[in-house]
Amino acid sequence: MTKIKLLLLIIMTVVVSGCFPSNKSGKAEILLQGRTMGTTYNVKVVSTLEHVKSINLQQQIDDALKQVNQEMSTYIPSSEISQFNQSRTTEERVISEGFSRVLAESLRLGEMSHGKLDITVGPLVNLWGFGPEFRPEKVPSAALIAQTKAQTGLDNLSLTGNKLAKAKPELAVDLSTIAKGYGVDVVAELIEANGFTNYLVEIGGELRLKGVKSTGELWVVAIEKPITTERSVQQFIVPKDNAMATSGDYRNYFEEDGVRFSHIIDPDTGKPIKHNLVSVTVIHPSSMTADGLSTLLMVLGEEDGLAFAEKHQLAAYFISKSEHGFTEQFTVKFKQYLK
Ligand code: ADP
Ligand code: MG
Repeated sequence: MTKIKLLLLIIMTVVVSGCFPSNKSGKAEILLQGRTMGTTYNVKVVSTLEHVKSINLQQQIDDALKQVNQEMSTYIPSSEISQFNQSRTTEERVISEGFSRVLAESLRLGEMSHGKLDITVGPLVNLWGFGPEFRPEKVPSAALIAQTKAQTGLDNLSLTGNKLAKAKPELAVDLSTIAKGYGVDVVAELIEANGFTNYLVEIGGELRLKGVKSTGELWVVAIEKPITTERSVQQFIVPKDNAMATSGDYRNYFEEDGVRFSHIIDPDTGKPIKHNLVSVTVIHPSSMTADGLSTLLMVLGEEDGLAFAEKHQLAAYFISKSEHGFTEQFTVKFKQYLK
């Protein structure tokens, strides 16, 4: 998550910091920005600046995100997840509510996909050079891949309520595929607890929105074109009161002999995925779930991913690379969100 991924361009009514159109009741879109999880966050609430300041909303957001990081960031050596990863005991330990909530959802999606979403792939992610450790100059040997793969596997992790244990001492958990989405949910819940009904929360491209803008119109967001050289819009989306997450490898890869290696690993092969699917966007009420599902569908690839999404009635949008550029496909449930 160190790499800043801004897949989504938020369409702002007026792109002037802190100054947005006021409506009849004097409310405007108040923008709060900061940094978290190796990327940026943008929050908009329809309110007045005085009110947002009086409740110290930005501080509340920063504190909540700090806690998420202290629980789930593999980049913080003292975090709860790092401690679990470093420990060499197979005895169960009591973990925080947030950590168990994200683990439970990750395991549910892992089971649902027969292990394609696998939060124990961390050692393989590192081996291929996309984790907290450094990037390899070349492709690892088959023996090393097999050896590293033997350290992984969802079967080696057990969660009972808020008690977590690993069956192999060296097993490590990597929540980078879902933690950003969870962070968005935490901020959205915090905003709702403060009484706001019209807001937008975005962390590194994952977002969740509710209600309307200060003008009374629905929030509109855009999926970016999957090209690395310039930023332009592929499709406008109106997600309504939902979260939207995108998984895509076109900004995060390394190349050897003209072959691109993605930062997403197929747990069955122990290798980065290699197919024509370049990005998957999922719309779901929970940002955490949308985030996990978008990666899961990315691992499955174009054909299996689309079949999986239809079978489970997911709202998903796929962009694939073809001879003639890019092609888009979406599920029946996604159609309603296209603008
Ligand atoms: P991003 O980090 O760019 O937002 P994703 O949400 O798709 O992208 O998550 C990708 C990250 O998830 C990788 O950087 C890696 O740490 C981790 N990962 C890679 N493959 C898998 C997998 N099969 N299951 C779970 N996590 C994975
Ligand atoms: Mg994801």
